[in-house]
Amino acid sequence: MTEHATTHLTRIADGVHVWAPDGAGTWGLANCVLVSSGTRAALVDTPYTTALAEQLLTAARRVLPTGATFDTVINTHANGDHCYSNAFFTGAEIIATESCREHACFEPAPDLLHQLVHGSDPGQPLGRYLRRHFGRYDYRGIQLAPPTRTFTAELTVHPGDEDELHLIEVGPAHTAGDLIVHLPRQRVVCTGDVFFAGDHPVHWAGPLERVMDACRRILDLRPQTVVPGHGPVVGPAALREHLDYLADLRGRIHTLHARGLDERKATSELLRENRHPHLGLPERLAILTAVEYRHLGGVTEPPDLLAFMAEAARHAQEAEQAR
Ligand SMILES: [Zn+2]
Repeated sequence: MTEHATTHLTRIADGVHVWAPDGAGTWGLANCVLVSSGTRAALVDTPYTTALAEQLLTAARRVLPTGATFDTVINTHANGDHCYSNAFFTGAEIIATESCREHACFEPAPDLLHQLVHGSDPGQPLGRYLRRHFGRYDYRGIQLAPPTRTFTAELTVHPGDEDELHLIEVGPAHTAGDLIVHLPRQRVVCTGDVFFAGDHPVHWAGPLERVMDACRRILDLRPQTVVPGHGPVVGPAALREHLDYLADLRGRIHTLHARGLDERKATSELLRENRHPHLGLPERLAILTAVEYRHLGGVTEPPDLLAFMAEAARHAQEAEQAR
């Protein structure tokens, strides 16, 4: 198990740094944003594991003044790669949407996830996929720290004297409880996972129209800098391009659904068409299709996320064998 990730802490605006692991084509390596003012610091999202949180803290110490403390942690949503190391930032107020707090109980506990990944059968597509993409992480002993402050709709916080962080609820979209963070003075928006740069996204809640609404909401804020949940920091043009991609994908999925193709066949068709070859992790189209089909079919019972992953793994293996 090697958890090593190449990480960078990059200044993107006044008092704003992005901790960005090299995460192209991977699961779990999310961006975190450090907002500092004097000795007070806020963090948007916390890394997946304690080892990664230690890397972040070491990097943060180099840019923060001596004695600086993390007073505020914001979780953009409840997926573990954005909140598993909350407890590492002792004493911080942890802010999320009310729906995020409610959704957290559907996420696997770290120890259970560890067992699931490292105890999986490598002879099966799912086991092979989980080991390949999550086998690098050690989740043992991670203590969860749930939000200590929640809100609905909007909330403005002032972690430092000058800074204003405007939190806007945009879920359900990627998950049930997504939020974005707008820094009006610096013209930065942290999008959480309603926007992935560089790879096909994965969205668990949907429908895609809600994700598109969230992206439009971000563009309406007229940001100069957009920090995606995963992938490189970009400008608004890349988000506009992503919105076109989502519209195209949504259109294709709806067409295939109307033609009567089941989810598996529809995914195979999308993979065969390969309309967006520059994006990584195309097997995620299986999950995007399954979630969109649920909405199209009016399915209301809770989704089986592991079954979604198994389908993605099956398609990944098929593609590998075809090469
Ligand atoms: Zn994520």
